[in-house]
Amino acid sequence: MAAESQARRENVIIYADPDRCMGCHSCEIACAVSHAEGHDLFSAVAARLPLQPRNHVVSVDGVTMPLQCRQCEDAPCTAVCPTGACRQTDGMVEIIGQHCIGCKLCAMVCPFGVITVKAEVAADGTALTNHGIAKKCDLCTDWRAETGAEETACVQSCPTKAIQLVDLDEYRKALREARARELVEATRHIRL
Ligand code: SF4
Ligand code: SF4
Repeated sequence: MAAESQARRENVIIYADPDRCMGCHSCEIACAVSHAEGHDLFSAVAARLPLQPRNHVVSVDGVTMPLQCRQCEDAPCTAVCPTGACRQTDGMVEIIGQHCIGCKLCAMVCPFGVITVKAEVAADGTALTNHGIAKKCDLCTDWRAETGAEETACVQSCPTKAIQLVDLDEYRKALREARARELVEATRHIRL
């Protein structure tokens, strides 16, 4: 019974609050490091290994916020992938690197622009063109399994708690309460 109700839950997503984001890029750096060899910034830079964040801080019209994969239910990226590398799994959308041919179709159809297919870099630091595979937020699955962290690296790193993992039941509850407060205020002096 517990397993059944677990399977019916909506997947967890990362939620970003633009009012709290100060554009420091800590989440982007933490994301890149958690996905880099050795999970260490200085070793990765010293070895000239690529740092590829899957979380992108965007500034537009005076607002700054991090954007990352929404783990869509009916994900267009999975629909267009010709090799099945990009696929739905339990609670998230994942890209299996060894099946990816770097065709970029997934990056072209993602409505949020959060898939990158950048060239890999050889051990001697030389950029290898046409050796890129698609990368996007994987909710730090491997890093969390390795480190035992409960939250993703971006969430852990944010100094203002502008980014967090959200259970949609909690999000909806907060949204309903916010609207109810506004309605109460708006109708306070109405007597029908
Ligand atoms: S990569 Fe884009 S289209 Fe695919 S699941 Fe994430 S947000 Fe949705
Ligand atoms: S770039 Fe890779 S994951 Fe994306 S559609 Fe092409 S083969 Fe699939």
